[in-house]
Amino acid sequence: MSIQTINPATNKVIKSFDEMTDSTVDSAVGKATKAFDDWKHTSYEVRAKLLHKVASLMRAKKESLAQMITLEMGKLIAQAEGEILLSADIFDYYATHGATFLADKVLAPEHGTALIRYSPIGVLFGVEPWNFPFYQVARFAAPNIMIGNTILVKHASLVPQCGIAIEELFLEAGSPKGLYTNLLISGKRASALVSDKRIKGVSLTGSEAAGASLASEAGKYLKKSVLELGGSDAFIILEDADIDKTVDWAIIGRINNNGECCIASKRFIAVEAIADEFLKKFTDKMALLKVGDPMHKDTDLGPLSSEDAAVQIVQQIDRAVKGGAKIILGGKRVDSEGAFVQPTILTNIQSDNPVYYEELFGPVATFYRVKDEQAAIELANDSPFGLGGSIFTQDIARGERLANQIDTGMVFINHPTWTQADLPFGGTKGSGYGRELSELGIDEFVNKKLIRVSNLDDPF
Ligand code: NAP
Repeated sequence: MSIQTINPATNKVIKSFDEMTDSTVDSAVGKATKAFDDWKHTSYEVRAKLLHKVASLMRAKKESLAQMITLEMGKLIAQAEGEILLSADIFDYYATHGATFLADKVLAPEHGTALIRYSPIGVLFGVEPWNFPFYQVARFAAPNIMIGNTILVKHASLVPQCGIAIEELFLEAGSPKGLYTNLLISGKRASALVSDKRIKGVSLTGSEAAGASLASEAGKYLKKSVLELGGSDAFIILEDADIDKTVDWAIIGRINNNGECCIASKRFIAVEAIADEFLKKFTDKMALLKVGDPMHKDTDLGPLSSEDAAVQIVQQIDRAVKGGAKIILGGKRVDSEGAFVQPTILTNIQSDNPVYYEELFGPVATFYRVKDEQAAIELANDSPFGLGGSIFTQDIARGERLANQIDTGMVFINHPTWTQADLPFGGTKGSGYGRELSELGIDEFVNKKLIRVSNLDDPF
């Protein structure tokens, strides 16, 4: 089968690639295993040098890499450039801090001495999504290469050129062959690889269905897994919020990356006192968004990543309306070629509406009006997901008190859920388990070995 680059702004096929055969994949796993035998003995300095080099190459090629992202999945070009810089920051971050994070941790047992020593576990297999083609890979690859593991990545079929480009960056940076390998295979073949004895851990960022498929294989073969799955972040607006500034963040929270972010603000929950004002201002600003070519710097909202994604989200809107939702804005495809969908706001969604518990992966906001802060928290927590969430209030102590009650992996006060190299990222409930980024992100695929020295004369 072939894997294709299809420009979602035109729905035209740009390039086709043959999938790797089973024997090519087998040989790639063999090379990654061989590379591990050497890489695990390299010093942190050698590993850091490689990661810094990858970062500097990314920055040097920022424009061309960003264009590749925009071409393959429709991200606005300025945001694509931002993604390349963020990815480079992640490589630099682990190169700079990795050795400190991985230094021996000396313990203080009752008798003798003990320490924890960190060591790599081997070849890791990562399955990555199309929505941040460089950043998602950076989160997985950078800490693990610093640890001394070697990496196989099966990237999303929508972004084959980005997947290939990342492997090329590693080779250009001087990476040994087999240290980082891009596997050009479809999702259907990914989970079968987990049983390979040479693969020691797996990580997936994507949908719950794909995560469950990969993780159940990992469980069967007793391998560690990390899952970063979907989200339906609540964006809570309290009566003391600065409404104008909050509306600006609400727009960014919903439409960043054309609305295709796991941590996008998806459910807007306003307390009664300011609900009308927020909804009016939010609707007015959403209506002004300029939808169009993602390569143009003045476009606010590009296409969805594919025609399928556009069809799917409009079907979700239709199901929501059949279930009683009201469309305040948008709700349809844009009348042009490409996978464009209008900025949309839905209200009147009750818990029996089919989309109430679903993730809306596109520029579609759902709006809820609640009596007070307690009702806002209850609604925020009434979700199968537990990724992020935001609270807008001028009273930070109140925001922190409410953050304690939100059942997610991340809560942001006065900002949509966001990401940077030195902050941990990950969820609870249906949003997965494990953490990426920050010091926590280097802690997943590493053997924390206890080394205990006893005195022969210590009591039994
Ligand atoms: P997806 O279909 O699950 O695709 C993600 C990756 O999984 C792709 O590489 C895909 O390959 C692969 N895949 C598909 N089926 C698989 C299977 N049965 N076994 C193993 N791998 C399989 O996800 P998507 O719908 O494209 O991406 C959007 C989802 O990702 C959203 O739910 C979003 O919230 C989530 N996401 C989460 C995070 C986070 O950090 N929590 C970040 C970004 C996105 P193919 O492309 O070849 O099908």
